[in-house]
Amino acid sequence: MSNRVVEGRMVTPKKLAEIVEGDSVMEAEDIEDADRQCPECGGDVISVGYMPSVTEFVTGFKCQECPWHETDR
Ligand SMILES: [Zn+2]
Repeated sequence: MSNRVVEGRMVTPKKLAEIVEGDSVMEAEDIEDADRQCPECGGDVISVGYMPSVTEFVTGFKCQECPWHETDR
């Protein structure tokens, strides 16, 4: 079960990566718990590794409760 609820909606790893990236992505790995809390609302943060292009691998972080997100770029 790699789909997770984010901001009240069920998302796939690829959909989560696209929310974080703000654009389409090529591949996404399974969603994981990031073991940290959102700096905006204190909600649980989840992470997803994804490839926005063939030459780049990014880890994205997203709050499950609010729009906050960031990447490790
Ligand atoms: Zn939040």
